[in-house]
Amino acid sequence: MRGTDRSWIEVEKKALLHNIGELKKITGRSCVLMPAVKANAYGHGDVLISRILQDAGVTDFCVASAEEGIRLRKEGITGEILILGYTHPDAFPELRRYGLTQTVVDIDYARVLSEFGGNIAVHAGVDTGMHRLGIPSDRMELIESVWTLPGIRVTGVFSHLCVSDGITRQAKEYTREQIRRFTQVTDELRRKGIRGFRSHIQGSYGILNYPAYSFDMARPGIALYGVMSSEKDKVMAKMRLKPVLALKARIGCVKELPEGESAGYGLTYTAQSRRRIAIAGIGYADGIPRSLSNCGHALVRGVRVPIIGRICMDQLTLDVTDVPGAAAGDEAVFIGCSKESRITAEEVAKEAGTITNEILSRLGGRLGRIVV
Ligand SMILES: *Cc1c(COP(=O)(O)O)cnc(C)c1O
Repeated sequence: MRGTDRSWIEVEKKALLHNIGELKKITGRSCVLMPAVKANAYGHGDVLISRILQDAGVTDFCVASAEEGIRLRKEGITGEILILGYTHPDAFPELRRYGLTQTVVDIDYARVLSEFGGNIAVHAGVDTGMHRLGIPSDRMELIESVWTLPGIRVTGVFSHLCVSDGITRQAKEYTREQIRRFTQVTDELRRKGIRGFRSHIQGSYGILNYPAYSFDMARPGIALYGVMSSEKDKVMAKMRLKPVLALKARIGCVKELPEGESAGYGLTYTAQSRRRIAIAGIGYADGIPRSLSNCGHALVRGVRVPIIGRICMDQLTLDVTDVPGAAAGDEAVFIGCSKESRITAEEVAKEAGTITNEILSRLGGRLGRIVV
């Protein structure tokens, strides 16, 4: 199966490599990029994306769960794979077996990992103000103690910025304070003679909006995929990143909808005049938000057409009255280009009232995924 018979994602390899290059320009030579390929590489396909990146010289990756890390290992990804979240102690043997690096989510967790033994690699999480994971940055004695624990190997220390995408003064001050606290921690560790760890705090917006700061590593996610979290951010980050993903579906049939007839579940759309409608093989189970019913769009033969009626689990309906020659077998583009027209992930996110990260990461496992 070619993967393009029903609904599919096209991953543009050139765009991905371009984005890596652009991000590297900002972070500089001494900073190692550790792409976030969690959540199936934000829907793009984690194995596919990681392989392209590994072939291009990327050695380190971060994921959200042990399971994601194990899949990458089984598919031949060899570098450091950092699990950014909690892993249940039952899975510790697998961390060892697959050589995955675990985040120290707090000091108690570090002790549990230590008791398990097995020389598991860890990055110590430091909480500088997000208050999600990590040891509080003002508890230096606890942070240092991670290095004294037997049975684990500390290869990194990191924190996470929670408002680096913000443009208000408060957001900027908060972010600078987070970076200051983190730098204080790493300086203090080095002053105590602790070496051999790599430090990192920047995700996409940390890189784009705070380019002057440079750490040993950075963890770009959304920017790597050439997308801003939301449309408004474009102004701020004037980067020439290229979208990596296109989302498409095949039109299965085209038909007339007589005036006064309704289409789809719940009678939410009624034709005010005779329409031509097309049924595309993609639905909310594939990740098209149901909230785009009667408000989203697609491109057919370069023409922007509305989604009409309720989006179903596996199918949706488009009004193709204005598309000359629209026929079964045509492609409908939900994100990406068709002739001269384009729909961006940012637009879709805005229409759906969310951010692109959510739209992309929820693109389903049922979609075909091809590299173009
Ligand atoms: C998801 C995540 C990232 C990547 O975030 P982007 O904003 O997509 O670049 C980086 N670090 C941590 C801890 C994350 O959870």
